[in-house]
Amino acid sequence: MEALVLEKKDVLALRDFDVAETLGPHDVRIALRTVGICGSDVHYYTHGAIGQFIVREPMILGHEASGVVVEVGDAVTNLKAGDRVCMEPGIPDPNSKATLQGMYNLDPAVRFWATPPVHGILRPTVVHPAAFTFKLPDNVSFAEGAMVEPVAVGMHAATKARIKPGDVAIVMGAGPIGMVTALAALAGGCSQIIMTDVQQPKLDLAATLGPITPVNIARENLKAIVDEMTDGWGANLVFECSGNEKAAASVFAALCPGGAVVYVGIPLQPIAYDVAAAMVKEARVEHVFRYAHVYPRAIALMASGKLDVKPLITDTFRFADSVEAFDFAVNMPPTSVKAQIVVAE
Ligand code: ZN
Repeated sequence: MEALVLEKKDVLALRDFDVAETLGPHDVRIALRTVGICGSDVHYYTHGAIGQFIVREPMILGHEASGVVVEVGDAVTNLKAGDRVCMEPGIPDPNSKATLQGMYNLDPAVRFWATPPVHGILRPTVVHPAAFTFKLPDNVSFAEGAMVEPVAVGMHAATKARIKPGDVAIVMGAGPIGMVTALAALAGGCSQIIMTDVQQPKLDLAATLGPITPVNIARENLKAIVDEMTDGWGANLVFECSGNEKAAASVFAALCPGGAVVYVGIPLQPIAYDVAAAMVKEARVEHVFRYAHVYPRAIALMASGKLDVKPLITDTFRFADSVEAFDFAVNMPPTSVKAQIVVAE
């Protein structure tokens, strides 16, 4: 089948590629429709590795996907051919200790699309467990369906934050993950989001998504703005989505006493943070690794209209132009948030 293959660092090809897949009793075969380009796909393209995951063999990219079921295994009862679906890209070992304890995202044996040596889904079809394949309501498009994966990260962060209705939250970083975290936090009950970045076009877009106050930290003082909005008390929650070393170290400055910080963005280098500053506020600190148990909730929020990802889908490419799409994503203009590839109409 024709697939977008990362041959090695800096070399992409749209070419014929054989993937051996058999349909097990609990699997479905899916014809791909829309696939989003993620920062991780781009990082494998430009760096050939993310941490311990190194591209040693040609690998198909892509893990944010929607499609249509074309075949179901004998034991599948919840899906049928023709169903419009989106897919959770990480498949854990169902018998692992982490899975049995409900933390299937932390299973060390998890097989995650486009994480070496596991192939991604920029290709016509894929075989996937039915348990990780979710029906899309009629009013959720394939493009939105392919956004469920990044939204799931924001949903997991919002869940970890234990939002109370009316909470004020800071979201650091207005990239795709910052945007979906802000949307998930609002859907989860936050009254106000204060969003930081240094790229003004991203902040301008964020301000159109809901009660979101943009703060350009290149020229504005975050703490002063938060103090003014909260009568000097501070924000209930801080979602660190930038991965930026300075931002990630400064999360307690504008946090309220008893507030919570959720680390979402992955810093490229180990970071230091001020434990004493966290102590005097008895800050709760949470971390997320991908997500678990949130796909149905994300889809439900999209279908109900409480969470609208459409403004985040800024650029769409044809499958034939996949290499061009990745080169665009490498040098993404600040006005763009999410680029997607339409594998088939
Ligand atoms: Zn992703």
